[in-house]
Amino acid sequence: MIKIPLDEVIQKIVAQSGMSELEVNAKIDKKMKAFDEIISRDGAAFMIASEHSVKVFEDPATKVLQIKDVHPGMSGVELVAKVSRIFDARSFARDGRDVPFIPIMVQDSTGSIRTTLWDKRAELISKDRLKVGDVIRIKNCSIKENSYTGKDLQMNSRSQIIINQDKLDVDIDAPVAAVETDLSNPTMGSPVTILGTIVSISEPRFYDACTDCRRKVSESNECQTHGKVDSPKTTMILNFVLDDSKGNIRATCFGELGEKLIGETADALKDIIAAQGGENIGLEMLGKMVEVSGIIKENKNYDRVEMTINSVKTQSADEMIARLNNG
Ligand SMILES: [Zn+2]
Repeated sequence: MIKIPLDEVIQKIVAQSGMSELEVNAKIDKKMKAFDEIISRDGAAFMIASEHSVKVFEDPATKVLQIKDVHPGMSGVELVAKVSRIFDARSFARDGRDVPFIPIMVQDSTGSIRTTLWDKRAELISKDRLKVGDVIRIKNCSIKENSYTGKDLQMNSRSQIIINQDKLDVDIDAPVAAVETDLSNPTMGSPVTILGTIVSISEPRFYDACTDCRRKVSESNECQTHGKVDSPKTTMILNFVLDDSKGNIRATCFGELGEKLIGETADALKDIIAAQGGENIGLEMLGKMVEVSGIIKENKNYDRVEMTINSVKTQSADEMIARLNNG
């Protein structure tokens, strides 16, 4: 005889399946009828639980991991995190029906990761059972590579989401603090800072951007979101190689960050390059020590890791040595 109260089984089904208590009870009633009342209410509840991949018994062998410690290829992962962002619901057609999906971001004290609620799980959002700020325990998920974010959390039919059973002190409005990483084994997909030296710099490239959203406009100056842009902003892409003595990485700055590093506006640089070529641009940056912050991710097309930079501080050699000694 299994000694777990019927109420608890029903609560577990509610918590993990996305159904309401009313729906669960209706399903139990229906199941009992289908079996012509030869099974008990508890028995029917267990059947509903298994049909919805609800785990009624706790698995004692799992270990909760922090987001910074999960890596592509891992499976059987358990996380406790706060929902920090819910994106718009979308859907795609499969077998003649619309399957809904909703991407969300979850965050713990070490970082954030994206996951997607598919199909029935998307109802957690559409039926208001899961909101920004809720703490979820996600069990039995796997970590997949994502060329944009570095890593994604994926749930399968055996994964479970348990809502607001855990406490987690994370301020989702505060930006995720960048952690220092080194290039021998860099942290991927979450904000990091690196102290390093610029050892190579490429000739800047330019594109025309929408003045509202700063995304690239088409050849006829159309922004996908904002339509025709009257005078698009010349925006610089600056690539350089950063070396921290343990490894090196190709880093990219967009817009003002690159202008700040070189000390010229994109428009001025464009003129300089047109007049005298770009070979000497940024040469004075070679050998400069910088502290950069940004996100490192894999570029599948080139089979290498790259860093997209969101802040750069130049460091004097003295500052750098002092920091390294204190670290
Ligand atoms: Zn725009």
